Formats: sequence, C-alpha cells, structure tokens
Amino acid sequence: MTAIAPAILPPSTSAAYFGHEVCRSQPAARRSLFITSYSTRLERVSSPENLSVAARLADAPSVRDTILAAAAAAHGLPGTDPRAMTHSWLFTGPPGAGRALAAQAFAAALMCPAEPGRGCGTCETCRGILGPEPRHTDLVFIRPEGLTIGVDGVRDMIRDAATRPTVAPWRVVIYDKADRLTDSAANSLLKTVEEPSSTTVLILCAPSTAPEDFSQTLRSRCRHLYIPAPTVDQIVEDLVAEGASPADARLAAVTSLRNVGRARQLVQNTDAQRRRTMAINLAEDIFHGSGAFVAASRLITNVTNEAKTINEAKNAKEDEEIAMAFGAGAKGKGAAKVQSEIKKEIKKREPARRSRQKRTQYDLLDTALVDLMGIYRDALMLKVGAAVEATHPDFSGLAGDLAARVSEEGLVAAQNAIVLCRERLLVNLDPTMALNGLVGRLRIACRAR
Ligand SMILES: [Zn+2]
Repeated sequence: MTAIAPAILPPSTSAAYFGHEVCRSQPAARRSLFITSYSTRLERVSSPENLSVAARLADAPSVRDTILAAAAAAHGLPGTDPRAMTHSWLFTGPPGAGRALAAQAFAAALMCPAEPGRGCGTCETCRGILGPEPRHTDLVFIRPEGLTIGVDGVRDMIRDAATRPTVAPWRVVIYDKADRLTDSAANSLLKTVEEPSSTTVLILCAPSTAPEDFSQTLRSRCRHLYIPAPTVDQIVEDLVAEGASPADARLAAVTSLRNVGRARQLVQNTDAQRRRTMAINLAEDIFHGSGAFVAASRLITNVTNEAKTINEAKNAKEDEEIAMAFGAGAKGKGAAKVQSEIKKEIKKREPARRSRQKRTQYDLLDTALVDLMGIYRDALMLKVGAAVEATHPDFSGLAGDLAARVSEEGLVAAQNAIVLCRERLLVNLDPTMALNGLVGRLRIACRAR
C-alpha cells in the first residue's frame, strides 16, 4: 500500500486557517475567561449584566420554559402549576451545551429578590449567581477537578444541602460534573437527593447525551432536564460578536461538534489549534511506519505540558490563597510557625493536585481523540456518499484520501479503535500504552503494512 502523500497536508493547515489575527483582536478580559472550562451561548455577549434569566435562555426555549415554570411555582406566583417544581434535578446535555449556566440561571430565578421566580439579571444577587465564578451566601457551586469523586468529595455537599438558607428563600446546590461520582459517592448522596431539606434545591449536572449513562439510582430520584447543544449558527453568532472572523467561527463550530467552549478555544488558542492538527494528522502518520508512534508520543508530551501549564497557574493561585488565609507576612515569633502551617496545608493538597493534573491531561487527550475520530467519520461519509456536513472541512483532502484507500469496514474499525482507546484512558491506563495500542489497531484497520 502506498502511503498518503504528506504534501497534501501541511502541518500548518488549520493554524493558518484559524488565523492569528483573530486572537490578537480579542479583548484581553474575555480571552481567558472560560477557555479551559466551559462557556456557552446562554451567556449573551452584548451586555450580560443586564439580561434577565428569560433573555439569557432565549436560545434554548424548552430549557427556559421548564426552569421558569419551576421557579415561578416555587414562589407560588399566580397561575403556576405547583407540579412544575421539584427539589432534585439532573441536567444533562452534550459537552459545552451550557448545563452549568442553565443551573445558574435557575438559581437566579429562585433567589432573585427583585423579581422572585423570574430573575431580573441586574440585581446584585443575580449578578453574583450568573457570573463566571458564581457566588452567593446561599448558593453552593461545586465543580470537582479530580478524575473521579469518592465519598469524601460529597460529604460537604450533603451537609450544605441540609443547611437552611440565610438570606434567600432557597439554598441552591449545583454540582457540576456529577458524572464523575463513584458508585459509592452516588449511593451516599441518595438520601439527600431523595428527601432534600424543604428549602434546598439540588441540581446535578452531567455532560451526557444519554442520561442512562448516569447513575440509575440517582437519576430515578431526580427530574431530568436535557440541555441541547446550540446550533452552528448560534455559535458562529457568539464567536463573531467576540471578534472571530465568520470563517473561523464556522469552522470552529462545526469541528468542535457544536461545543461552544471548545469552539471558542479553537478560534482563540493557537496551541489548541496545533493539537487538533497533530491529532488529525495521526490518521496520515499511521501510513509511515514508526512515524505514527513518534507522532503519538509527541501528542502525549504536548498534552502533558499543556496540562502542567494550566495547573501550575491554578496551584500558584491556591498557594497564594492559602498564604493569605494563614496570615503570611506575620513578623516576630509567630512567623516561622505560620510558614510551617502554610507548607503543611500545601502538602495536604498534593493528592488532589495530582488528580487534577491527570484529569486535565485526560481531557486534553480525549479531545484530541475526538478530533481524530472525526476524520475517519468524514472519510466514511464520503465513502458511502452520505450528504452530511464534514467534521473537519479544512482536512477534506485527507478525508478523501482515506476514503479512497481504506475499506468501509476499516474506517468503522478505526473509529472503534479510538472508542476503545478513550475507554482505556478513562480507566487510567498509561497514555503511552493506550496510544501505542491505538496506533497498532489503526494500522491494522487501514492495512498500513
Ligand atoms: Zn435579580
């Protein structure tokens, strides 16, 4: 089998397409806001501070109607149906659809003193709850960072959920990434979810398109609300409003599979663009003998370094907060003791930090694998003549070559190999072993021998 000519695929293809000008034109404050975590259409760009909850959810009418009906019923507004409200909720939806922001909007509608049951969007309560770092005395917002969450990780939340609100009529507990709960953690939450305090609303958020993936026992005790992914046009509109070119915005929307956070990262972050190119190019590299293993190991190094950079910044910020909390800068007798307390506290965080590093690395690698899967999917669509939009329109040359050289079964097998690799990474297999296995399977699937 002849190798695919590398000439058709300059490594800079997508970086050039995405254009660095866009990055420079971004207002600095917006550029870093949600790059590595999440963000969504539910936060309108024009004047986010002034929009009511209804306006913020305008792009997702089914979500808006459910949330506002529930909040209105919770406040007993005239003409509302009390059955619209319940205490335990599960918000699911594809990654980047805005589950957490929908939960924040719900909290604002419940807690807003200016327009109870509606959420004015302008009062101090609303602005605190709807901001990038949600805050309010009676709001508990938890976004865990480890690979999985055990019983220890939910203990505080159980206590918080049992506490009465202090100023707002409701205490709202939002648990993002609840899909990371271990079975035992999920079980320890059962009672809280089943019979929460009468003044508590619990919202579990899980990135999933199939709610059956989520703990069956918890799911059956919650009311489920699906947060759909935004349309390509909605994402393009948002990214263009933030300064991206329409072409970049459209490519990012399509290639991110309508994940707003990921799309935004692609138009703004050249490292993310480079990683995407590396991942997609693996489909070509596998035709070049050992070159594919080298490319895979380069991808792992890139991901590991990026995860380190992200977490070093987080660690430094935490160190600073710890030092502040312990009263660093003290002089005299107490100074040495304070320093040793600070050191001890930082050391205590080490296991959590290692777990966070692993999770970041996993997330970045998983995104790369989803990118790689997209090129085999594009090739398969071409092969069977399906008239669907390509996942990677800027790599149509590679998709065409794969379609010409690899059988239909081979393209399916390649995608299955990627699914298997993602699963193996999730159960904590060493990334090098997982990716070497993947390269081997891709070579067999594509008969690259
Ligand atoms: Zn308000």
